[in-house]
Amino acid sequence: MATLNYQAPATVEDAVRILAGTGGVAKLLAGGTDLLVQLRSGRVKPELIIDTKKIPGLIGIREVDGGFIIGAATSGAVIGEHEALGRAWPGVVEAANLIGSTQVQGRASLAGNLCNASPAADSVPALIAAKATCVIVGPKGQREAPVESIVTSPGRTSLARDEIITEFHLPKRPPRSADAYLRFIPRTEMDIAVVGVGVNVTLDASGVCRDARVSLGAVAPTPLLVPEAAAALIGRKLDQTALDALDAAARKACKPIDDKRGTIDYRIKVAGVLARRAAAIAFERAGERR
Ligand SMILES: Cc1cc2nc3c(=O)[nH]c(=O)nc-3n(C[C@H](O)[C@H](O)[C@H](O)COP(=O)(O)OP(=O)(O)OC[C@H]3O[C@@H](n4cnc5c(N)ncnc54)[C@H](O)[C@@H]3O)c2cc1C
Repeated sequence: MATLNYQAPATVEDAVRILAGTGGVAKLLAGGTDLLVQLRSGRVKPELIIDTKKIPGLIGIREVDGGFIIGAATSGAVIGEHEALGRAWPGVVEAANLIGSTQVQGRASLAGNLCNASPAADSVPALIAAKATCVIVGPKGQREAPVESIVTSPGRTSLARDEIITEFHLPKRPPRSADAYLRFIPRTEMDIAVVGVGVNVTLDASGVCRDARVSLGAVAPTPLLVPEAAAALIGRKLDQTALDALDAAARKACKPIDDKRGTIDYRIKVAGVLARRAAAIAFERAGERR
């Protein structure tokens, strides 16, 4: 019978050394809310599990130079309780807090949500819209990569097998900036997004959008950054022309699948509608900030 080993290193260097030294399949463990389900179903059969939660720095949130650093294994519950983060990045926080139930929130992390590489992961479009980056450590040292470069196809990432994400960086906010995340699910809670939309904007004093990022989830094999949707907002107030252009650009970017949660046509339509609504929330939040 195959044995399953468990290690809980105390440093990132040890975690990387253990990962690099394993001949077979090793899996990093953060909250385990994806990994344990996959273990029980037999979908993954690692010979080693490396728990990341004992590594200092992998859990916690720090404010640095006006931006935020979120440890890779920090739970949704901790993220939701951080007042300054919630003020600066309400969209990122609301996306992280949509994941699962209260029980799941106590465990589920941003790194797990990203590295599980589901096209429908809720925090990922919000992080992409926020221009978040992640710090990745491997045997050759440390590198920083945009969140949108991590998921390459369903269940796959661009990380090498001996690399670990240690933290996420959210940049300093200019004045009159805000974000929002909305998802649509067929039930009222505990379901996978049919569509998720993250919108992040910076306005000028007259309410004209000077910078924007728009990201879509669950409508393609990977979460999408959609510059055409951002371009629909930049240089405009949120009038009917901007909303119609945003809706059209969001719909055009979709390459969804048909499944029991929604048809291709339905997902495309919902993407446009949710993009409008998320933009309206982001603009309203940004307008309230001086
Ligand atoms: C009941 C239930 C409801 C759920 N609802 C939602 C939902 O509404 N929205 C949603 O998006 N998801 C949902 N999920 C899925 C899951 O909770 C999330 O994807 C969660 O964020 C995973 O985080 P985790 O810390 O538990 O990851 P884990 O299960 O610990 O890890 C997931 C994957 O990431 C890898 N990994 C972990 N940490 C690192 C790291 N530091 N570097 C590199 N790779 C790493 C692991 O090896 C594994 O492959 C739900 C799950 C359950 C069980």
